[in-house]
Amino acid sequence: MDLTTPLSELPGIGPSLSYRLKKLELNIVEDLIMNFPFRYDDFSNVTNALEAKEGEAVTLTGEIWSIKNVYTRSRKIITQAIFNDGSSPIELTWFNQSWLTKQINVGDKLQISGKVAKYKNKLSIVNPRWEKIHNTSFINHNSLHTGRLIPIYSETMGLTSKWIRAKVADILPKVKDKIEDPLPDNIRKKMLPLTDAIQKIHFPENYQEVVQAKERLGFDELFFVQLATQKLRQEWRNKPAIERITIDNLQLMNFINNLPYKLTNAQQRVISEVVKDLNSNHPMNRLVQGEVGSGKTVVAAIIAYLVYLAGYKTYYMAPTEILAFQHYSTLTKLLEPYGIKVGLYTGSKKFTKNKDLKFNLLNPKSQPDIIVGTHALLSAKLEISNIGLIIVDEQQRFGVAQRSLLRSKAKVPHFLTMTATPIPRTVALTVYGDLDLSIIDELPKGRRQIKTYFVPNKKRRDAYEFIRKQVKKNGDQVYLITPLIDESETQLSAKAATVEFEKLSTKVFPDLRLGLLHGRLKSKEKEEVLNKFKDHQIDILVSTSVVEVGVDVPNATIMIIESAERFGLAQLHQLRGRVGRGEKQSYCFLFAEAEISGNVNRLRNLEKIDNGLELAELDLKIRGSGEIFGIRQSGRLEFKIASFSDLTLIEKTKTAAQEILEEDPSLDKYPSLLGKLAGISHGAMPD
Ligand code: ADP
Ligand code: MG
Repeated sequence: MDLTTPLSELPGIGPSLSYRLKKLELNIVEDLIMNFPFRYDDFSNVTNALEAKEGEAVTLTGEIWSIKNVYTRSRKIITQAIFNDGSSPIELTWFNQSWLTKQINVGDKLQISGKVAKYKNKLSIVNPRWEKIHNTSFINHNSLHTGRLIPIYSETMGLTSKWIRAKVADILPKVKDKIEDPLPDNIRKKMLPLTDAIQKIHFPENYQEVVQAKERLGFDELFFVQLATQKLRQEWRNKPAIERITIDNLQLMNFINNLPYKLTNAQQRVISEVVKDLNSNHPMNRLVQGEVGSGKTVVAAIIAYLVYLAGYKTYYMAPTEILAFQHYSTLTKLLEPYGIKVGLYTGSKKFTKNKDLKFNLLNPKSQPDIIVGTHALLSAKLEISNIGLIIVDEQQRFGVAQRSLLRSKAKVPHFLTMTATPIPRTVALTVYGDLDLSIIDELPKGRRQIKTYFVPNKKRRDAYEFIRKQVKKNGDQVYLITPLIDESETQLSAKAATVEFEKLSTKVFPDLRLGLLHGRLKSKEKEEVLNKFKDHQIDILVSTSVVEVGVDVPNATIMIIESAERFGLAQLHQLRGRVGRGEKQSYCFLFAEAEISGNVNRLRNLEKIDNGLELAELDLKIRGSGEIFGIRQSGRLEFKIASFSDLTLIEKTKTAAQEILEEDPSLDKYPSLLGKLAGISHGAMPD
């Protein structure tokens, strides 16, 4: 047996167990030993029945005096046993485990662990863990399921922690010597060796050992992500860039001064950061993060303008066709006055039909200077020479873009990614560690804050009446986001939206015009609904959260979010950013399905805080990394042990990764590290 042996090949694991193991993503031996407990039951208090007190978690060693199944009036089966440890007989009670009378017999010597309770006025241990006393010794101990810190694992139907625990105890000693510690000695100086850490996380002697084990295992998790991103960063930087882009400051100032508004300080700062990158010998790889409405497009346009002045072309990639079209028209307005040709290229014929005829994309002489499009831009069909800059809006798929560039091009263009997703600092340091980060942390002046309220269910009618009034009196428009059911646009969430739509249009707002939008609609239908909303033929747009409501509708002033507790705060903030785009005061109403105080207090943060990054940091504190929008979405980077809130560990691992790469950029001296990296699909490169 070694680490890669499929579990299904082990003795005693038949098809049905294999199936269950697969459900827990346990396929090979390594998966099993790297599947860590999520908590421990502390049964290390080995005592005797005489001293056991009600409410205490204890472990007793003794003999079964009697055992039988009893049927209650409600037809439940109770297994009752009298257990004697030599101090005082005590009753054991199990519910719904009638098979126990076949496994445990009178006279058996057992060790049992459980909480002492009063049952029918007698001290009893209910549903105790138990094991027969053998003379074998388990890892560091002579018991496995009782009398120690008991590891508890994620379970599935028919696969218990007890089974997993026994399997790990059986397998771990057999493969222990085959576990290689990939970390160089000087890095793991003060930490446990990997094998010890794995052993102690499963079978600790005490909590201190759990802490030590987690320290080592958490370090590894973060370290390898850091090593991967830092290595990528290094590779990118070492690629020769297209020539250094000389900046024409006069023209830059002229362009900025001719804008209909004054740039915010944050916009100006980001532009100067980018200018520095363009002017260096390395290709830029920068992420611009700025809230919805912070004015990222104009920053991108200015950069594209500078690149144009230096004689290069720009790709501008958007995640959807609707957004590509929107950017195309914005950029055309901003840049055509300067004699810049803007073209559009998307996969669908609809948009390209009229537009790309304007420029013959295949003829270098008539190629546009800036080509806006979807990821279709990267397809081989489009051969545009002299690309100096690639701008990727909203981050989607940009990893793929980068990767294909790294592979294909001898010289790489500068790379600028833009996102409205707030990225906490610790995440930026890890997942996006290969990128330089610029933050637009300021909205253009004059934006009104969106008044946000958590609305208890008993006030739902009032909220509906308020909405009706706003719609009828002021002609306002409304988004209503239905519960998030799944990250992906499933049938279920489409159904939830449809049900809500039916209810609202027949019962609540029969007098208003409602529209329905969800991911199961054909793209033509989606577009139709969005256009109707834009043309004000729809008052209330009922929509799932995943639909890209890319269309900017300044007249929409009310955002209602149902079951808001299911969303992260930062995500709610992004959703509400779809209103508040015009002159009028905008509102956001949050409803919760479960009005428990934790939910309500969490949601109330949105009434006070108007800063996406601050909310993202709060998410991290309250609910952990799973809530960081974008990370969970792409399903990557679920750490088992490490946490994004552990800044110290993040910095420590980053430094360690950088030091190793400085000393040995190719990692030739560390084949074990290279081996680990090959298996990591890391942050900035989602597929
Ligand atoms: P986002 O960062 O969400 O992409 P946009 O680039 O779409 O934001 O900008 C939102 C709106 O703000 C646009 O209508 C844009 O013209 C306007 N805008 C951008 N910068 C400024 C500024 N400095 N002052 C006033 N309005 C601005
Ligand atoms: Mg934008």
